[in-house]
Amino acid sequence: MSESPRSMTAIVKMAIGSDSISVISWPRPVPKAGQVILEVHGAGVCGTDLHIAVDAYPNIPPVVMGHEVAGKVVEIGNGVDANWLGLRVACETHHQVCKCDFCRGGRRNLCKNKTSMGSFVDGGFATHVAVDEELLHLIPDSITDHESALTEPLACVCHVLLDPPLINVADTVLVIGPGPIGLLAAQVARAMGGIVTICGLEKDQMRLGVAQDIGFNTTHSPEPEGFDVVIECSGSEGGISTGLKSARRGGRYIAVGIVGHDVNFSADAILYKELLISSGFASTPQSWNRALRLLENSQVSLSPLISRVEPLKNWPSVYKDLGNADVLKIVFDPRI
Ligand SMILES: [Zn+2]
Ligand SMILES: [Zn+2]
Repeated sequence: MSESPRSMTAIVKMAIGSDSISVISWPRPVPKAGQVILEVHGAGVCGTDLHIAVDAYPNIPPVVMGHEVAGKVVEIGNGVDANWLGLRVACETHHQVCKCDFCRGGRRNLCKNKTSMGSFVDGGFATHVAVDEELLHLIPDSITDHESALTEPLACVCHVLLDPPLINVADTVLVIGPGPIGLLAAQVARAMGGIVTICGLEKDQMRLGVAQDIGFNTTHSPEPEGFDVVIECSGSEGGISTGLKSARRGGRYIAVGIVGHDVNFSADAILYKELLISSGFASTPQSWNRALRLLENSQVSLSPLISRVEPLKNWPSVYKDLGNADVLKIVFDPRI
């Protein structure tokens, strides 16, 4: 595809309706005041992208997809600190914060008016993306260009588990669902002092193998009432049932996986066992800082979670393979 200097290659959702995604030449963004332009070096593909593709997650097309984004600052707008130029960064996703109680209280992840990149404003499945300066976070030198695309999901996991902290030293922790989020949650829980087991299905052999490689016990059938803390990352009816059974009396149950539809489960276990139910949505500036410190101190490793790095043009096979039990994270590198 030939490009003029102010155009770029991007994966764009052109309209409401499935079958409306294509890789096309798209105007390269110009930084507004307070914004920088990133040359994207890694953009993770996530279940939410599949939901956006079929309009199961709100979006305003035409929009460049991609919200797990890292890159190098190559241009800055008026008022931006020039020291950002040339630095490697990852970025928070919540644009256009307002003055509601949540935004003013530092909880803009809960704002009803928030607009996220990749669904409401142009995201990072492109060679370049415009981002507000206040959303930038510096990537530690020890983290590669492709690994840094996983900072966003790690920040989401840190928000759920660390704010407030839900795991005590020597708690037995069961993580249900050995996908990328489950493997991040397990590592954060271990960093908090938890003794972590990861639960998966028979078809999850590859993913459970990765879990073992990074030092976790794995199981297909967790012991009933065997765990102080259950972290449900599968987003499935079976996972929720197993989680409620596996939590010990007086234990904690943390909902992380998005189910996407109504499910049946026996809610009485919550009451009879006096379970503390907790959750968290998206990320906050604090959770980003924690995620980056965990990476800087090698308490979370990301490279085992990356199955493939792909050029943007391969999006059809990437979207098709996502969620397949033989694949963990797929990262686009728009430079290749
Ligand atoms: Zn995501
Ligand atoms: Zn707000």
